[in-house]
Amino acid sequence: AIQARINEVREATDGGEDTVDADEGDGTGDADDAETEGEYEATEEDVQDPDEGEATLDKKHVRALENGVYQDMWVYCETQGGELLDVSKEMLGKARELMDGYAEDYGDEERVVAVLVGDDMEELAEECITLGADVAVYHDDERLARFRHKPYTEIVADMARTKADWKDYDKPRYFLFPATNNGRDLSAQVQGELDSGLASDCSGLTITDELISNPVKTGEPGEKVEFERILHMQRPDFSGFEYSTILCIDNPDREFHPQGCSVIPGSFDAMAPDGDREGEVIAHDIDLPDDWFRVAVTEWDTLDTGVDLTGREVIVAIGRGIGDDPTKGIELAVDLVDAFDDADLGLSRGIVTASYNVEGHVERYVTEERQIGETGQIVQPPLYIAAGISGAIQHKVGMDESETIVAINTDPEADIRDFSDFFIEGDLFDVLPRLTDAIEAGEL
Ligand code: FAD
Repeated sequence: AIQARINEVREATDGGEDTVDADEGDGTGDADDAETEGEYEATEEDVQDPDEGEATLDKKHVRALENGVYQDMWVYCETQGGELLDVSKEMLGKARELMDGYAEDYGDEERVVAVLVGDDMEELAEECITLGADVAVYHDDERLARFRHKPYTEIVADMARTKADWKDYDKPRYFLFPATNNGRDLSAQVQGELDSGLASDCSGLTITDELISNPVKTGEPGEKVEFERILHMQRPDFSGFEYSTILCIDNPDREFHPQGCSVIPGSFDAMAPDGDREGEVIAHDIDLPDDWFRVAVTEWDTLDTGVDLTGREVIVAIGRGIGDDPTKGIELAVDLVDAFDDADLGLSRGIVTASYNVEGHVERYVTEERQIGETGQIVQPPLYIAAGISGAIQHKVGMDESETIVAINTDPEADIRDFSDFFIEGDLFDVLPRLTDAIEAGEL
């Protein structure tokens, strides 16, 4: 029975080949020893379940055969100005939660591995441990002080591929990157280098088993196979109104291919820092050839757009609901802004990308710097008034930490209703002037 089960797994895995190449992975128990000799052979000891007293293939070894022996969750932690970005902390918090759940669901203690590239990263690597990582691997070089496409890609891919001699943890089975400008660039490139896929701009992550019809694995089209521990990566689609769930299932033809995603900032909670957490901080070492630095950064400057919405008491934000002639809508919103002592105008991207062809208010106010959301500013004012904004996830992440959210929308089912404190069903051309009058009259 044991041999039959082993054969079954092997056949399902690789058409009967009974070895797993030593390079395919390491780090999980007994399989290590066999791998050092170049192949993994399941033995009767491996497959005897002591509790049940009956012959079953040990779970880890089934996975060793099926997936290559690597299970850890890696998180690329982006930094800026000598600090971890919030999204890096949020991803670590989520990774910790997922790996803790993993331990509960599957009985395996898998690790969260933080990855950092830059200059002077050791302290930040240590901070990653307090925020949920078990291991933090960093690469330091003064030439890496700012993001550089080629060397960053090569270094992170090398960390993942070789894992060098870092014996205590695995290659990534899962790889999270931030959905920032640099993170988007890096994630696509690294996952490409690792011959794997990427789900971009994710805002929901879970790990479960999945029954899938997969001809790749079985050779039998239509036959369902259970894939273990698959990361379900949720991302907004159709302008943020629907979610897709992306799966990157195991492929026995590949040496290893981490399930990768980029994560929208603000999607998850960071852990409260815990100074008592213990972990390992490791410096990664690899020669950085000159031709990785063919693009020279000769100078940089901080862009002062003159628009900083972050410290305002009130933001009045308008969206595509202002219609095709925006002059009136902008005028009404600016009137409301002026009625408060400390307010400013915000925009949805729907407005920023609309091609308005009107002079005056439009030129003055419709600037990218006023955009709020994932690819704009993140604000948390005491009062956020959203007029004619539907509430797509990419907008939501930039404002849903506001203390009080008031939405004005003609559509009673607009998504923004779900995360507003007050929802005014109505036409903004009617509601905005009434709000302005009420505030000026001291009624609100
Ligand atoms: P719509 O979705 O068109 O909504 C208009 C709303 O106005 C509707 O709910 C409608 O019922 C209402 N309305 C119509 N007429 C009236 C009226 N007279 N009075 C009151 N209500 C009315 N978006 C952002 O905002 N910020 C970002 O940073 C951002 N980043 C993105 C990044 C990526 C990678 C992608 C793919 C998208 C991003 N988006 C971002 C775009 C986002 O997905 C939405 O398309 C956008 O937020 C929609 O803008 P909107 O709500 O103004 O327009």
